[in-house]
Amino acid sequence: MTDKVVIITGGSRGIGRATALAAAARGFRVVVGYASNEAAAKQVVGAIEAKNGTAIAVKCDVAKESDILALFKAADAFGVLGALVNNAGIVGPSMRVEDMSFERIQRMMAVNVTGSILCAREAVKRMSTRNGGKGGVIVNLSSVAAKLGSPNTYVDYAASKGAIDSFTVGLGHEVADEGIRVAAIRPGLIDTEIHASGGEPDRAHRLSQTVPMKRVGTVEEIANAIVWLMSDDASYVTSAILDVSGGR
Ligand code: NAP
Repeated sequence: MTDKVVIITGGSRGIGRATALAAAARGFRVVVGYASNEAAAKQVVGAIEAKNGTAIAVKCDVAKESDILALFKAADAFGVLGALVNNAGIVGPSMRVEDMSFERIQRMMAVNVTGSILCAREAVKRMSTRNGGKGGVIVNLSSVAAKLGSPNTYVDYAASKGAIDSFTVGLGHEVADEGIRVAAIRPGLIDTEIHASGGEPDRAHRLSQTVPMKRVGTVEEIANAIVWLMSDDASYVTSAILDVSGGR
């Protein structure tokens, strides 16, 4: 148990929501970031408070640096930052690379890559013992797409998650002796609304038979791995990338 603050980008729905609930159950004061769905974010805060936890919702499009600075400022007023979960992420409609627009690729990288790096920058400023901080944990959301490449679907998304893998290893080494652990989770096919946002709500279930375990994963199965990485039980884990994918 801890009374430290965790910032979860995209904490309003899906994996982020489940992580917010799991972190609150372990005593974290939770900053629930959201892009636009204020009602969903407020519902998460209400669910945490109903179990005597503490949470606030903060609007933050991670593609906007000014939003990220405001998110961390709100967190500073909330308590000592102990963890960041770089969860906010987007996919796009399935298509071949030759059909992708500049705007689509720019947005994919801005949200999934630049946003995560900027959030980590702000977390390191606060957590690093080099800067007078008390240490902490950064958990990045990658994807098994980083390994598979997602041909004919969203190679840009897969490439953004490949960047997250490299970032996790490199940043982990950079701050390893400054009290900060950095790790990533590579989820497989998880039952969330992200597939609908890519134009195919049934995608996870359609592909479930390609998973060695023959089923999709739940948001709780990802959240449990994230909060384990955030805990002292994972005290010797850094620059590590954990597949939570039913073997995919
Ligand atoms: P989801 O159900 O679509 O939820 C996305 C969350 O991110 C929402 O809270 C949304 O906020 C927020 N968000 C979207 N764009 C944002 C932006 N520009 N700035 C800040 N927040 C933003 O997604 P999910 O399936 O839980 O995915 C979470 C993470 O896991 C992503 O990084 C994703 O790539 C990764 N992942 C998911 C799967 C899967 O099968 N689901 C597999 C591998 C990896 P609003 O509620 O305000 O819209």
